[in-house]
Amino acid sequence: MMQLLYGIVLLTVMGFVAGVGLGIAAKKFEVKEDPRVAEIAKVLPGANCGLCGYPGCEAYAKAIVYKGEAMGKCVPGKKMGVEAKIREIMAKGGPTS
Ligand code: SF4
Repeated sequence: MMQLLYGIVLLTVMGFVAGVGLGIAAKKFEVKEDPRVAEIAKVLPGANCGLCGYPGCEAYAKAIVYKGEAMGKCVPGKKMGVEAKIREIMAKGGPTS
């Protein structure tokens, strides 16, 4: 009976220690995304059609911010003035620029 109790206590302690360790590691190695990605994704049409050459609007937004991709590649967004809105967002600068 005592062996079972020791086993339960040991597993509980190990689980707690592993949880705390993972929590600390998650905070320490957290990768913060440039807020401009979300802002650009918000002004894109959200059609996820792939006409820009990326698998979706968010991938295109990330390419603009992190890879310096051209800002006028969203075909459905041309009539909506998306390129000008993206230029405004990019002109603000960000933590990676
Ligand atoms: S072309 Fe525009 S709407 Fe289509 S996936 Fe690219 S960003 Fe989204």
